[in-house]
Amino acid sequence: MDVRKLVLIRSDEKHYVYLFVISILLVAWQYYGMSLNMVVIPDDTNADRVTVYSDFINGGRSDSRLRNEAGKLLLDCDLILSDTFAFCGVSIPLVAEGEKGMDMRKYSRMQIELEYISADNDTLLVYLINEEFSDDGSRLEKSNLWPVSPNKNSNTFLLRPDRFIVPSWWIFQNSRNGLNLEPDISNVTALRITTGDNTKARTVGLNIRHISFSGKWIASDDLYLGLLVAWLALILLHGLRTMHVLTVRFRQSKEQNKKLVKLNRFLRIQKNQYETMAKKDKLTGAWNRAGVRDLLESVLEDHKLHGIPCALLVIDVDNFKRINDEFGHDAGDRALSGLVKLINSYTRNKDTFARWGGEEFVLICPNTDLHAATTLAEILRQKVQTTKLLEERNITCSFGVAELEGEEIEVWFKRADEALYRAKAAGRNRVESA
Ligand code: GH3
Ligand code: MG
Ligand code: MG
Repeated sequence: MDVRKLVLIRSDEKHYVYLFVISILLVAWQYYGMSLNMVVIPDDTNADRVTVYSDFINGGRSDSRLRNEAGKLLLDCDLILSDTFAFCGVSIPLVAEGEKGMDMRKYSRMQIELEYISADNDTLLVYLINEEFSDDGSRLEKSNLWPVSPNKNSNTFLLRPDRFIVPSWWIFQNSRNGLNLEPDISNVTALRITTGDNTKARTVGLNIRHISFSGKWIASDDLYLGLLVAWLALILLHGLRTMHVLTVRFRQSKEQNKKLVKLNRFLRIQKNQYETMAKKDKLTGAWNRAGVRDLLESVLEDHKLHGIPCALLVIDVDNFKRINDEFGHDAGDRALSGLVKLINSYTRNKDTFARWGGEEFVLICPNTDLHAATTLAEILRQKVQTTKLLEERNITCSFGVAELEGEEIEVWFKRADEALYRAKAAGRNRVESA
């Protein structure tokens, strides 16, 4: 097996190899690199804009004090019971007021480091606030929630932004037609951390040391989807191209075929013409010896197998040498051509007239006996004699007639020749039969 053939890749297939290599590289790069990191706290720009987020928005009375020390957020809060649910927390904007939110789907991890001081067991609620618009065009903030359970010491939490849920209170408050109740973090404007479900009055302290997000420039899902689209597009393009190429080739080969059929027909005609030319005498247009070979074989076979008769007339122009001598060779030629035309015009379709050499001709008459052939010879003799084949002088012919009698062709011809000889000897312009 030829190894070169095995590794030989057609140019079309190269694209698959390229895309395969690119796919592998992208997947590897995405896995080991493409890192995307965003630190929210400590970060001066964010820390300056952080605000208290507590039950006062619902008319509550809890008292919150927020300090920002070296980028760390310190929240002290007296949770005071009132008509509304008592809570406090911080709201950290991720984008400037009025700006489009951040697409947090790129981040697969969120890390929070904090201290939580509470007199009682408690939960902390981490929210990613997504700005959305309902069907009627009104703007609303969807709360995507991840509850965590802090202990009294330092806490580090690893959250997954894509696993946040929409809390039941938000669904309850916003349950109206045309609202998407699924979690959505594609347009996140702020991050909030608030106290959780404990309903007792208490004093709490929240010290947020670190909040960061990490992810990839291109998320795995997006990358795989992109690669899938690229592969499908390549396969589709390749398919279309292959179809196009095959159509063009099919059309070309059809045209080629048409041309070949035409050429073939032309060559066949040409071949037939050459074959006919080879079997015809140039001067007179009568058949030559080669032209009657097949006919002679077939009449011989018909005669031997089925007893079908066949007659032969050997015709020789009388004193032709003299005609040449007296009127020139061209006149002799004209006389020969005229003779052929004349005899052909009086013979039947089944008869074949051939020039045997010089001024000697043969007429082969299949299915004809000696009597009929002799009668025909006599008619022809008279026609020759009475027709003006030359301006200068009429010519005559002598005829030797023989019917095939189960002998070989040569013997048959010899008998006809002998009859002709007798006609010549008897004074020419005569018919003699064997
Ligand atoms: P006979 O009656 O005994 O047949 O006499 P003849 O003169 O016809 O016979 P001979 O065999 O002596 O001469 C035949 C002549 O026919 C000789 C030759 O020059 C002439 N001849 C043969 N072929 C052609 C030809 O193609 N064109 C012309 N013009 N003459 C030819
Ligand atoms: Mg002669
Ligand atoms: Mg002769």
